Amino acid sequence: MAASDIEAAISPERVTMRKRTTTVSLAALATLVLTGCSSTTTVHPTPIPRAESTVQAVDVDHLPELNAPATCSGYVALTFDDGPTQVTKDLLDILGHYDVPAAFFNLGLQEKKMPELVERQIREGHQVGNHTMTHPELLTIPLDEALDDIDAATVVHRDLVDHSYTLFRPPYGGTNQEIRKGAEERNMTEVLWTVDSKDYEAASAEQVIEQSQGMTDGGILLMHDGKPPTVEALPQIIRSYYDQGLCFGQVTTVDEELPSNMGTTHRARATEQEAKP
Ligand SMILES: [Zn+2]
Repeated sequence: MAASDIEAAISPERVTMRKRTTTVSLAALATLVLTGCSSTTTVHPTPIPRAESTVQAVDVDHLPELNAPATCSGYVALTFDDGPTQVTKDLLDILGHYDVPAAFFNLGLQEKKMPELVERQIREGHQVGNHTMTHPELLTIPLDEALDDIDAATVVHRDLVDHSYTLFRPPYGGTNQEIRKGAEERNMTEVLWTVDSKDYEAASAEQVIEQSQGMTDGGILLMHDGKPPTVEALPQIIRSYYDQGLCFGQVTTVDEELPSNMGTTHRARATEQEAKP
């Protein structure tokens, strides 16, 4: 299977999105906001300002001003799967502007295409975890093939950026005891999530914001790299948790089993970010 086919299989809409220009997508969003589709209950995203000279770049000087809580009543974690992609730099610009950490669960195939973005993720203090090489449904293939796909990503990552993964997220959350044990034997904690933004099927940033609500202290939000609506939604997602007194932290391995998605458990939660070296 060619890499482009694999990518299409992972995310059929991603291929379509690439063909659109950022300008069109922002114009559509602006129209939506300006034509007053608003209701009193919906939180609208703020269109991400772009520098005029470089349409692709987020103009961080004009992002909305957000106020982090004076005292954090708890910590939640933002996670982005399937990158790096053409919008990773936008995510990093926004996260950097607000000094918010995140965890990126990268694909080996994507890391090979954009190693400079992996370096930037690490350099800017974000966590970077293993999301396999080719994004297979691990439960539908033999265990040794599943582990080989995980190992292939680890090798690519180590060779590209001289960094070892300590976190692992199975594609689609598809895991079992053997896969989890395999990750642990490779010194990686399996990380699922507590809230799914469902941004892979969201038609708008508003939807992503709405579906990203509900985390409490320790919560982990699943989002995806490569989705323009997620980029547009990010400042308002941050604001919505700040309004609840929650701050953004890192994904930390814990000794206890905590509830995660779909009735499963994992040994991970959000905690305050360790001081940067
Ligand atoms: Zn994925």
